[in-house]
Amino acid sequence: MRDFTPEQTAQLECYYELLLDWNSRINLTAITEHDAVWQRHFRDSVMPGEYLTLPEEIPSDGDVGTRLLDMGTGAGFPGIPLKICYPGLQVTLVDSLQKRIGFLEAVIHELGLTGITAIHGRAEELAAPGAPLRESFDLVTSRAVARLSTLSEYCVPFLKVGGQFIAYKSPDCTEELTDAKQAIFLLGGRLDRVETFELPAVGDEPPQGRALIFIKKQQSTAKTYPRRAGLPSKKPL
Ligand code: SAM
Repeated sequence: MRDFTPEQTAQLECYYELLLDWNSRINLTAITEHDAVWQRHFRDSVMPGEYLTLPEEIPSDGDVGTRLLDMGTGAGFPGIPLKICYPGLQVTLVDSLQKRIGFLEAVIHELGLTGITAIHGRAEELAAPGAPLRESFDLVTSRAVARLSTLSEYCVPFLKVGGQFIAYKSPDCTEELTDAKQAIFLLGGRLDRVETFELPAVGDEPPQGRALIFIKKQQSTAKTYPRRAGLPSKKPL
C-alpha cells in the first residue's frame, strides 16, 4: 500500500475534523477514533488504486477525464478519499439522504475540491432510461449499500459500455456473488475479477478482510433496468 502524500494527509485530516464535527449533529459514521477512521474509511476507500491505474493529474481543459460515480456514498466513502488521492477523477457522489448531501457539500467547499459534485437522489431514478447520468461513467463504486444482486441493478446502468463497477464486500462473499451472477448478466455486465486483502489491526480490533469485486460492462443495459424505486431491493433479479 502506498503512503499518502503530505498534501493528501492534510486534506484527509481536515475531512476527519469535519466528519467528527458533523457527526455530533447528523448520523454519519459509527467509527470515530482517529486511527480507525484512517484505516477503515480512508485507506479502505482508496484501495482500488492498487489494482487499477487511476488518474493523479487534473485533466487539461476540454478533456473530460475519468468519470467516477460513488453510489450510496453516505459520508463520502469511498468517493472523497479517491478524489483526494486521484485528483484526475471527475467524481459524482450520490445519496438518497439530503442531510448527508449537505455534509458532502461542506467537505467539498472546505477542502477546495474541484471536479466533484454531490447529488441527492435514488439510483433507480438517476439511472433510469433517458436520465442524464445513465451510461455516462467509466467507473462506479459502492460500499456497504446493498447485496450484490440489488447493488448491480443500482450501479451497472450508470456505466458506459467498457466501464467497471467496483463493489466493496467482505471476503466471504462467495454466496452473494453466486446469487448475483444472473443479475450481472441481465444488466450487461460480466464478473471480471475479485481482489482480496487485509486492512491492518487498529487498537483492539483485529485486521479486517476486504474483497473488491470488479464487474465489467460489456453491453448496454436494457431499458427495463433499473426497475422502479424499491423493486431492486424487494425483488432482486
Ligand atoms: N458508502 C458509505 C460507506 O461505506 O460508509 C455509506 C454506506 S451507508 C450504510 C448506505 C448509504 O446508501 C446511505 O447513506 C443511504 O442513504 C444510501 N442509499 C441506499 N439506497 C440507496 C439508493 N437506492 N439510492 C441512493 N442512495 C442509497
